[in-house]
Amino acid sequence: MRDQVQSLLGGAPARLVIDLDAIAHNIGVLQRHAGDAMVMAVVKGDAYGHGLVPSARAALRGGAHWLGVAQLQEALDLRAAGITAPVLSWLHAPGVDFGKAIEAGIDIGVPAVWEIDAVAAAARRTGRTARVQLKVDTGLARNGAFGPDWPLLVEAAQRHTADGTLKVTGVFTHFAFADLPHHPTVQAQQLRFADAVRDCERAGFDLEVRHMSNSAATLMTPQAAWDMVRPGLAVYGLSPAPDIGGSSRFDLIPAMTMSANATVTKRVPPGQGVSYCHTYVTSRETTLVDVPCGYADGVPRAASSKGPVLIGGKRFTIAGRVCMDQFVVDVGDLPVQAGDEVVLFGSGADGGPTAQDWAEVTDTISYEIVARTSSRLPRIYRGEQ
Ligand SMILES: *Cc1c(COP(=O)(O)O)cnc(C)c1O
Repeated sequence: MRDQVQSLLGGAPARLVIDLDAIAHNIGVLQRHAGDAMVMAVVKGDAYGHGLVPSARAALRGGAHWLGVAQLQEALDLRAAGITAPVLSWLHAPGVDFGKAIEAGIDIGVPAVWEIDAVAAAARRTGRTARVQLKVDTGLARNGAFGPDWPLLVEAAQRHTADGTLKVTGVFTHFAFADLPHHPTVQAQQLRFADAVRDCERAGFDLEVRHMSNSAATLMTPQAAWDMVRPGLAVYGLSPAPDIGGSSRFDLIPAMTMSANATVTKRVPPGQGVSYCHTYVTSRETTLVDVPCGYADGVPRAASSKGPVLIGGKRFTIAGRVCMDQFVVDVGDLPVQAGDEVVLFGSGADGGPTAQDWAEVTDTISYEIVARTSSRLPRIYRGEQ
């Protein structure tokens, strides 16, 4: 198995294995929570590090109806790969070429008047009706039209729809505390959103989709599903609310496994300092294993002397500093050889660490652990393509 993987990779010392069947399975789980609502699989950020196009295809195979991205280029990359499913792109800065989005039939999420005016100008240039979805800020105070800016956005949309320049296909918003379903903002944001939907209906927009739920809301606040849910993290099998439950509590299967092959091992005496600045010192004669991945691959340097790994079915902790390309593990007397597999995180089914475990020891969220894995790591896809 290892030889097979190695020959596939031309000897890459570390890699990500992505389980596409897990992604398809997770979409099924999310669909059950969504009831009659559609599922938009969020594939921004290179599908949270899992690889944009293969992950998008797996999500569609699993039953996702829409794909969601942050940046327009991500949407264009989906189209360039031949994916024809509806796509919404929602984060743009002045200067973006909306003409390309319109020609590619991408729905454009707009939070501001400057943006809807720019979309309208591009639509007139291309001679095609642009599809836009209005983004209302119901309390996150991030991207979205807030307070008095909202009626101005609706008014601008009305102006541009009157002559067929634009079609408003949807309205959406984003939660601040979806991982705490009883937080008062969860209810308050739903009420604000209902008002915004009413504003759109009064303005005469023929909405196809009204949506607000990320992964956590999809799993725990089903009454907020409206016409569509918009999960990201849970598509990849990670829990969006680890304080409430892990992946298995929600029947999700983590899709990403990160592993590397030991480069060298050595016996060292007690008192040997390990890796830069010798922040770890051996307490007895022991075997050190050098593992060829580091912060240039997305292994957080904050995991120095903290990150868990699985070697030969046993869990160990990184010894000393994580470097750019490598780190060291003290395995005691376990017989480990150059080439042996070291798993950083995976599904957890084998008793090995998960991305959530890495998030906990580095004081972050599992989103960041998977999304920051670098492009230097080859991605190997398993399951139906
Ligand atoms: C990233 C994002 C999502 C998905 O959030 P998860 O917590 O990963 O489910 C949904 N909607 C918007 C607007 C986002 O930016």
